[in-house]
Amino acid sequence: RWTHVGVPPADPILGLKVVFRQDPFTSSKIDLTVGAYRTNDGEPWVLPAVRVATERLLTADHEYLPIDGLPAFTRATQRLMYGDDVASAVTVQTLSGTGAVRLSLEFLKRFFDAPLYLPRITWSNHFNIARDAGFADPRTYAYLDDATSRLDFESMLADLDAAPDGSIVLLHLCAHNPTGVDLTLPQWEILADLFARKSLLPLFDSAYLGFATGDLDRDAKPFRLFFEKGLAPWACVSFSKNFGLYSERVGALHATVRVEERDAVLGHLKKIARAMYSNPPAFGARIVSTVLEDPDLYASWLDSLHVMSDRIFETRGLLRSHLENATRDHDWDHITSQIGMFCFTGLTKSQVLELREKHHVYMLDNGRVSMAGVNTRNVEPLAAAIAAVLED
Ligand code: PMP
Repeated sequence: RWTHVGVPPADPILGLKVVFRQDPFTSSKIDLTVGAYRTNDGEPWVLPAVRVATERLLTADHEYLPIDGLPAFTRATQRLMYGDDVASAVTVQTLSGTGAVRLSLEFLKRFFDAPLYLPRITWSNHFNIARDAGFADPRTYAYLDDATSRLDFESMLADLDAAPDGSIVLLHLCAHNPTGVDLTLPQWEILADLFARKSLLPLFDSAYLGFATGDLDRDAKPFRLFFEKGLAPWACVSFSKNFGLYSERVGALHATVRVEERDAVLGHLKKIARAMYSNPPAFGARIVSTVLEDPDLYASWLDSLHVMSDRIFETRGLLRSHLENATRDHDWDHITSQIGMFCFTGLTKSQVLELREKHHVYMLDNGRVSMAGVNTRNVEPLAAAIAAVLED
């Protein structure tokens, strides 16, 4: 019955995590695959504010949420993205960031006949989601210059300038995955002007708010800039990383629409959600809204954001200096100039495979390292392994 169903390739990120778990070199293997925060001891971290909120919620019931989610949560997450000016925001709680991207693309495919552009190199799942939502052949725009591992802003502008007017363009809000390379504020201004001229629809993917600089308002700035310029941006928000709530699937889709369009857009987003998963899970959303609405827990959350982003920032410096000691004639400047959870090493696929097979160091085939997996214990062997592979 199922002989016609071939085995599909494993997911390039989560599939690799499975291979890592099966590697018997338990004492020396290094996991730099999935973007999940780890302490310097290599352990997952439950944020103190999340722990307190969880304890408060132990007596909560398990009733269904409305299709568009927990009202206290959707209100609180709107403020994080828009500031106080939320009148034109339509918000639906989603199955984390992935669900927000999927829901937005399902809606746009049905009601907005336009091509979709993704950055040329992006989170691999963007392609899966786009195709399953009916964008058979998502287009790409230039982003990273492979030769220099820096933003190729001129080519990015040229590609988007050549896109049909009215196209949908996915932008990473901050801490671009996988490159760790973001636009500067003046570059966002120039880009916004191009979006205005060509009536492009900005679809921001916000999976790392607070992770780029540790400052929420600064990280949200590109969205607010587009909003203030009247470009009606949409945002796909994840609370996986900034709250450490990976398994709870907490996210939101914000659609900026005219007031008279609100009921129609919200109504259809709910109709699509109802058929896909009916309504979202409550527990994680209650944790997030409890923290966002309690001044003490909110302050504690901000502290935790700094703890996480500072540790990653310091680890970048450490990795860079170990690599500079271990290798000759190599420029490792990009390790510290990139930001967020990931480091795009620039290693080739064959070097990455050699690292995996000979040294039990696991990073994505495209050379992306989750910096959260690096710590004071493994940074030296990691640098030595990279140096060995570069010398081969
Ligand atoms: N967008 C990007 C760019 C991501 O890196 C991720 C997480 N890896 C997501 C969206 C969605 O993650 P989640 O569904 O866990 O919120």
